[in-house]
Amino acid sequence: MDYNVLKGTHDIIDEEAYNYSYIEEILTNIAWLYDFKEYRVPVIEKSELYQRSVGEGSDIVRKEMYTFEDKGNRLITLRPEFTAGIIRSMINSKFLVTRDLPLKAFYCGPVFRYERPQLGRYRQFNQFGIEIVGSNSYLRDVECIAFGYTALKMLGFKNLELRINTLGDKFSRENYKKALVNYFSKHINEMCNDCKERLKLNPLRILDCKVLDDQEIIKGAPLMKNYLTLDSKTRFENVLEALDIMGIPYIEDDTLVRGLDYYSDTVFEFHYTSKNGNNYGAIGAGGHYSDLVKELGGPVLSGVGLSFGIERLYNILKDDNKLQKKDKIDLYIAPIGNVDINYIMSIVFDVRNNGYSCEINLESKSITSSIKKAVRANSKYLLIIGEDEMKDGIYTLKNLETQEQLDVYEPDLIKVLDALYQEEEDKYCDLTESINELKDEEDEEDEEEIEKE
Ligand code: AMP
Repeated sequence: MDYNVLKGTHDIIDEEAYNYSYIEEILTNIAWLYDFKEYRVPVIEKSELYQRSVGEGSDIVRKEMYTFEDKGNRLITLRPEFTAGIIRSMINSKFLVTRDLPLKAFYCGPVFRYERPQLGRYRQFNQFGIEIVGSNSYLRDVECIAFGYTALKMLGFKNLELRINTLGDKFSRENYKKALVNYFSKHINEMCNDCKERLKLNPLRILDCKVLDDQEIIKGAPLMKNYLTLDSKTRFENVLEALDIMGIPYIEDDTLVRGLDYYSDTVFEFHYTSKNGNNYGAIGAGGHYSDLVKELGGPVLSGVGLSFGIERLYNILKDDNKLQKKDKIDLYIAPIGNVDINYIMSIVFDVRNNGYSCEINLESKSITSSIKKAVRANSKYLLIIGEDEMKDGIYTLKNLETQEQLDVYEPDLIKVLDALYQEEEDKYCDLTESINELKDEEDEEDEEEIEKE
C-alpha cells in the first residue's frame, strides 16, 4: 500500500506555501482597494446547485464534478468553481435585498475538477476571485477587468495579454447558436466525439475545442459579432471604449467562449507566457452573467466575476524568478555545552513574545551544528549561550550577514535587538533619501538638457 498524493493533486509546502500566501495577500489587498468583502463558502454544496448554474451542457457538469452521496443520501459535490456558491450565499443571507447593491465579494480556496492532469491543470487547485452582483452597468465589467489588470501588474506581470469577447444577450446567442448548428452540421462527421456531443448540448463550446484538425474547421465558423443585438453590440463597444480610456490594452478574440454556461455579454481571459516559453493556459478568466441569480432563486439581477488560478500564477512567477525568497528569521539561539536549557527556553519565549521570530537548537549543543542550522534557517542573528556566558549573563550576538558580533547583557537583549533593527531602518531611509535626491538631480539635469535642445 502506498500513500502518494492522488493524481492531479499536490502538496503545497514551505517556500511554495509561503509564496501562495504572498500571492493571496497581494490579491486580497487589492480586493480591499476595490472595496470587495470576503466570502468564505463551504467546499461541499448540493450537486443541483452546480447543475443549475454551471450548466448541464458544460464539461464541468458532464464529466468533471466530484459528486457523491452522503450518509443521509443527499447528492453532494465538491465545489468545481466559486460563483454558484457565492450567489447562493448572497441569496440565503438576503443581502441582495437588504444591502446596497452591487454586492462585491472576493474569495479564495480550493476547487475540484476531475480533469486530465497536465501542465497547469490539476484536479484540486486554488482560485482567488471576485464577484460584483446586482448591477447591469457595463462599467462593472470594466471594474472587474481593471481589478485583474491591477492585480497582475502588482504581482510583477509584464506583457500581459487580455483577450476579450462578447457572447451577446439571450437573443444574440439564440441566433448565433442556430448559425453555428447550421455550419458545424456540415462538418461534424470529421470532428472529435466531444464536438459531436457539444453540437447537441451547446454548440458555442465547439469554438473552444483544442483538437488541431477541429480548429481548422472552427476558423471558418460564423462570428458572434455578426449576430449581436443592438443592445449587446453597444454594450460591448462601451466596455472597449472604457478600457481604452483607462489605458488597459486588450485583444478582441472572436473564439473566446469560456467553459461555464452562465456567461452572457462580456467574457475575458488573461494570458501570459513565461520567459522559458511555458504556457500554462489562462491565468485568470471571467465574465458577465445576467440570468444566474434568478436561476438560483434570487431576484432578477446581473453580475460579473473573475477568477485567478493560484497554481498558474505561482508557476509563472517562479519560472520568471519573481517570487519572494523565504523570509528570514530574526534570531537563532545556540545553547553550547552543559547549560540550563529550561532557562534558555524562557529567553526564546521572551524574544518571541516581543515580536521577533526565533528558533533554538534543542537537538545539539555543538557550535558548528548551530551555525549551520542558523544559516540554513536564514537567520539574521545568532545568539551563542555557553556555560561561561550563562554564569556572567553576557552572551555573544552575531550578525550572520556582516559577521559583526557584540556582547549583550541578558536583560538588554530585547533593547539591543530593537536598536539594531531601528538602526537598519534608519540606514534604509537614508539610502532611499539619497537615491531620491540623486534621481531628482538627474531629472533636473535631464530637464535642463531638454530645455537647451
Ligand atoms: P474557470 O473557473 O474555468 O473560469 O477558471 C478560472 C481560472 O482557474 C483559470 O483561468 C485558471 O487560471 C484556473 N484553472 C482552471 N482550471 C484549472 C485546473 N484544472 N488547474 C489549475 N488551474 C485551473
